[in-house]
Amino acid sequence: MRKIQMVDLQTQYQFIKPQVDAGIQEVLSSAQYINGPAVKTFQTNLEQYLGVKHVIPCANGTDALQIAMMGLGLKPGDEVITADFTFAATVEVIALLGLSPVLVDVLPDSFNIDPDAIEKAITPNTKAIVPVHLFGQVADMERIMEIATKHKLYVIEDNAQGIGANFTAKDGTKTKTGGIGHVGSTSFFPSKNLGCYGDGGAIFTNDDDLAHIIRGVVNHGMYTRYHHDVVGVNSRLDSLQAVVLNEKLKLLDYYNERRKWAAIRYTQLLNDHPKIETPVTSGDCDSHVYHQYTLKIIGADRDALVQHLQQNDIPCGVYYPIPLHLQKAYADSRYNEANFTVTNQLVKEVISLPMHSELDEEQIQFICATLRSFLD
Ligand SMILES: *Cc1c(COP(=O)(O)O)cnc(C)c1O
Repeated sequence: MRKIQMVDLQTQYQFIKPQVDAGIQEVLSSAQYINGPAVKTFQTNLEQYLGVKHVIPCANGTDALQIAMMGLGLKPGDEVITADFTFAATVEVIALLGLSPVLVDVLPDSFNIDPDAIEKAITPNTKAIVPVHLFGQVADMERIMEIATKHKLYVIEDNAQGIGANFTAKDGTKTKTGGIGHVGSTSFFPSKNLGCYGDGGAIFTNDDDLAHIIRGVVNHGMYTRYHHDVVGVNSRLDSLQAVVLNEKLKLLDYYNERRKWAAIRYTQLLNDHPKIETPVTSGDCDSHVYHQYTLKIIGADRDALVQHLQQNDIPCGVYYPIPLHLQKAYADSRYNEANFTVTNQLVKEVISLPMHSELDEEQIQFICATLRSFLD
């Protein structure tokens, strides 16, 4: 059996090595390391794939979120509502820009932001909502967009874990995540569903004016060379990463199908166990791209299980072990524990199993048998 890894990027690379190596060699020979043709090609390819008018590549997913908020012109003191149960980058950039983060609870089944909690948290200072498509599953965008329209709020989708997932509206129309709200962001960190071989990110929007503003923000606030109209940042995707992304974008749907297959096998092998709750898909079958496959362990010692798996050379992850509202950097006396009952519980129960496009049947069976042997 091949060694089990959380993500198996070596095996994945072997399948695309000739194309990637040739593309990298071309960049090296051309010396167009920054803003070379591969970056422009990737931008166009991703626009087509996502069905959005504008993709603006940048340096990483955290920058992408920050730049989206800068582009919307959010000002210090503006309140931005996001989920208590997510990776810290989401709340970090809100705080960094001097905006006021408002963390709210998530739903127990989907792990995604709770629309009722969003509505309760809205004040006259609220300017934006940042739903995260956590673990690859589309947040409840129907409700979130309704709330945003009603209260005139921006929606910034943190799509770092959800690229390739589809949101199906009530009337049946499908939209790829990242293109539903006013602006979306993603990360191309190597372990993401569409990952490069270093850092990378992108911002998406269908709004021409916002796209124009953002193209300046990523480039030192320049719209005309050496004229700095706004305070910007330097955030670029380099040509070598764009080569990798162009190759991997062609395979993204295949990669996501492979993840779905692995998720289905895990669920088949685990869902009858009384101490295991397998993940729930709230939408249709293309609403989840399984960035993570996350179980809830009920009535057993989750941390001891983590150790048991590790002793058997099975890596696993606890995403996330501490609610953001309890992190030192983001604690706030306004928060009331009674409003975070779901997140406070999830942090004790969740465990994410190895999940990637190269998992095979033998590995999945071994992982499930090892897990069950601990819980039985
Ligand atoms: C990975 C991730 C980010 C940050 O992306 P980087 O490219 O590492 O900066 C932001 N939000 C979420 C939900 C993520 O998973």
